[in-house]
Amino acid sequence: MGYRSTASLLALMLLGPPAVAAQSAIVDQYRDVADRIIEAALADSTAYERLTELVDRFGHRFSGSVSLERAIDWILEEMRVDGLDNVHGEPVMVPHWVRGRESAELIEPRRRTLPVLGLGGSVGTPPQGVRAQVLVVESFAELRERAAEAPGKIVLFDAPWDGYGPTVQYRTRGADAAAAVGAVASMIRSVTPYSQQTPHTGVMSYGDSVPRIPHAAITPEDASMIHRMQERGGRIVVRLMMEAQTLPDVESRNLVGELLGSTLPNEAVILGGHIDSWDVGQGAMDDAGGVVAAWEAVRLLHDLGLRPRRSIRVVGWTNEENGLAGANAYRDAHLAEIDDIVLAIESDAGVFKPLGFGFGGTPAAYEVVREVGRLLDPIDAGDIRMGGGGADIGPLMRAGVPGMGLTVDGTRYFWYHHTEADTIDKLDPREMAECVAAMAVMAYVIADLPEKLPR
Ligand SMILES: [Zn+2]
Repeated sequence: MGYRSTASLLALMLLGPPAVAAQSAIVDQYRDVADRIIEAALADSTAYERLTELVDRFGHRFSGSVSLERAIDWILEEMRVDGLDNVHGEPVMVPHWVRGRESAELIEPRRRTLPVLGLGGSVGTPPQGVRAQVLVVESFAELRERAAEAPGKIVLFDAPWDGYGPTVQYRTRGADAAAAVGAVASMIRSVTPYSQQTPHTGVMSYGDSVPRIPHAAITPEDASMIHRMQERGGRIVVRLMMEAQTLPDVESRNLVGELLGSTLPNEAVILGGHIDSWDVGQGAMDDAGGVVAAWEAVRLLHDLGLRPRRSIRVVGWTNEENGLAGANAYRDAHLAEIDDIVLAIESDAGVFKPLGFGFGGTPAAYEVVREVGRLLDPIDAGDIRMGGGGADIGPLMRAGVPGMGLTVDGTRYFWYHHTEADTIDKLDPREMAECVAAMAVMAYVIADLPEKLPR
């Protein structure tokens, strides 16, 4: 018996007997169709093949890039070929940050080229770079204690991985903290639990109270080494060069395709992920995989001739990574129909072995989605927990729409997240097919239930 079965057993013991009659009715009514969807998804390798073609043909899809727009064009064309309804792009203005060339070099106590990625939104350095002594700190608190040592230096935050949320603060806010004590540039240990000398990029931002200084990520291996050098004593000097700059906003699109409902087409379950990525690797797991899994879930239902009462709408939001412009624009453009968006489901944690969904909504709605989750027990993907959502559906959820994030085995996600190594070979076709099955069953049943999901 695995951990998850033990956990379910424990939940049963804590919650008492499940399934009042009305809720079991969901399982009874939809068991056959759910099994059919799961069987079809697992027998079909189109999701992985399409994802492979998408990322090999277009590469990364960074906001402002031509590759993002060509990838959106291609998906829209393919959705039309699939026979989806209402296939279109919805224009959105997005930020346009460009990395340019960049390099980092350890100069003292010995020379070494440091693999580096500038952080999204950072200013660049002068053309010759910034050459300065390094002050290594482990935390914001240590930086405050050693503030007197910081002026004129490059501050390196060698913050150990403590989960994404706590550790990512050094990426998002590190530059301001370093600038506030007089640093001329800042660097971070890449935000990851595991590294093979791969730097991780990601978004950062500036406040208005301190000068804007360049901010970049080096690898955990190099951050640890430089930290050890400081502990031994002696001068450490690094030269950091970044051409990064922010250009005027450009137009991108949220991509949309639907399976129109049979009797309540104006009501919809939204299913999606973000089509943009960072400007490194292929963004295969973050988040082309989520978009393609959602799209394939709907294509599969279409091909099976399954048309639920309500519509299921695939949305590929643009610009999640460095602005959330797509998510905010989608909410703004659809505010008038917010009551008709029954549920929004996002996949943005990679397409690995699916475990279930995290749900954000009322307890009454949770009871319903938990019942639907039981239909996913055959692939062990029926673990529905309270609490969840996603960055792109966040604006809809704050406007009152129930939301759900696909949960997957995230063991390896942050190894590759925002790196050159986020490529298709890290994903598994069977696991991706299971993600398609989980999303298709959840979306289909919620879209087809006689009663609208409670709010
Ligand atoms: Zn993502």
